[in-house]
Amino acid sequence: MKKAYLKTYGCQMNEQDTRQMETLLGQSGYARTNDPLDADFALINTCAVREKAVHKIYSDLGRMRLIRENNPNLLVGVAGCVVEQEKEALVKRFPFVDLLFGPDHIRHLPEMLGKAEERRDKQGPSVLHVGFDARKDFQFVNVLPNPDESPVKAFVNIQKGCDNICSFCIVPFVRGREVSRPAHEILAEIKALTERGVKEVMLLGQNVNSYGFKSNDGVSFAELLERIATQTNLSRLRFTSSHPKDVKDDLIDQYANNPVLAPHFHLPVQAGSDAVLKAMRRQYSRDDYLRIIDSLKARVPGIAFSTDIIVGFPGESDADFRQTLSLMEVVRYDLVYSFAYSPRPYTSAIKLADDVPLEVKKARLAELQALSDEHTLAIHESVVGQIKEVLVETCDDSDTLVYKGRTGCNKVVHFTGTPCAFGDRVRVIIKQANPHSLFGETACPNS
Ligand code: SF4
Repeated sequence: MKKAYLKTYGCQMNEQDTRQMETLLGQSGYARTNDPLDADFALINTCAVREKAVHKIYSDLGRMRLIRENNPNLLVGVAGCVVEQEKEALVKRFPFVDLLFGPDHIRHLPEMLGKAEERRDKQGPSVLHVGFDARKDFQFVNVLPNPDESPVKAFVNIQKGCDNICSFCIVPFVRGREVSRPAHEILAEIKALTERGVKEVMLLGQNVNSYGFKSNDGVSFAELLERIATQTNLSRLRFTSSHPKDVKDDLIDQYANNPVLAPHFHLPVQAGSDAVLKAMRRQYSRDDYLRIIDSLKARVPGIAFSTDIIVGFPGESDADFRQTLSLMEVVRYDLVYSFAYSPRPYTSAIKLADDVPLEVKKARLAELQALSDEHTLAIHESVVGQIKEVLVETCDDSDTLVYKGRTGCNKVVHFTGTPCAFGDRVRVIIKQANPHSLFGETACPNS
């Protein structure tokens, strides 16, 4: 077997793309290696969401050039969003790279690999595949990921691209317009995954709430969740990422009535001030957002929330930032993914002056993360003494039998006690709260 080294930057969508590329490479005779010096093919799957990520990729490619000089047979490839962002400019900057392709071209990897090997041998021009298929022509990659990764959990793409135009976001320009995957493909993949023991699935899309808006089979997102619960043996269902403007009552009904849907909702708010939300072109107000949170808290007691927040967006005043902190106080998120604004090419915000000084961005980020950590710990402390149902994912230490799993609310729990198997749902009494996880013991059957 030839060996392939795969490195991934960025979001869960990119991680899933890499899993699919690993399977396609496996079908082309490549086994995975974690050592680029041991590889016949080295592929970097890139992320363009922040400038910092792009710089890391360029230094990676600098290192890859040296490895290639010592091993002229090494085939080098670059995939993902930076290829779509930079196109020919990336070829000019790194002419030694044999193959470059954007996210829409993953399913063609086996053929592109053949052309890249030819290019390497004949010293021809780099093989570059960029651009987007028309919505009607786009086909999703229908391969199952390598089972070794996690026997219990899996990710399933339900959508690609995005039709929103949030002013800070490069995604629509590097992943194209929104396409929803046919429901029958999604159900078939989940059935195949549960047949091999998977208990939990995370549905992936840039804005899963608009799933089905422009698809042929007319299946809405809520309908899809219903079908997964009634037509598969899945034990627990999650999804990411969502856009508040497309959260409808039928989704809230699913949270209240769908026994498989985990009581955790990742709902990016990005900012707490209406002025900033307007400048970000998020198409909802602070009150619109809080109305969704309130209805879910009323219909699903104990539901957990997480979110994404950007600080230092152009024009963000200190008062605007205080609005973000006060919104966090209202919602009390289990987890906040927070970032400092980074100007991105093609986006409309790039025309705005990046007028919030870096040290102010850093100070706001630090203050926000400290508040978020405070909330997370308080929420963890509030469940000490309670019994929680945990889906067992791994065993941290097989000698002392310390297991690791997650609650329905997506809290990480490490626990000891009665031996159990991966995929078991175990009742655990929470004994200790830590900043990012809980510790417990298996509860007695009749407690
Ligand atoms: S919804 Fe907005 S932030 Fe999310 S991927 Fe689409 S454009 Fe980007």
